[in-house]
Amino acid sequence: MNRLIHLLENAEDRSWQDRANCLGVDPDLFFPERGASTKEAKEVCRGCVVREDCLEYALANGEKFGIWGGMSERERRRVRRARALARRTGGASA
Ligand code: SF4
Repeated sequence: MNRLIHLLENAEDRSWQDRANCLGVDPDLFFPERGASTKEAKEVCRGCVVREDCLEYALANGEKFGIWGGMSERERRRVRRARALARRTGGASA
């Protein structure tokens, strides 16, 4: 029983990935070298209908590299920090 609960709690709905705008796009675009432009990847994300799912997935899984949900690692770090702060102070999440 405990194992079932664990499995259910950890089951992630990844069906959103089937609707990703980046399907078929060169994955390297989303993992640019340090200092390289993220503009093209973000352009693909801009028109993506599952952008929010993608971003939440990256935040939940602590993805440290690449562009997810139209955000760079640095931008996601900022969101994580803002949310952590909001949780501590009881404010609304970012
Ligand atoms: S937001 Fe960007 S990286 Fe995420 S699924 Fe959409 S196109 Fe791909």
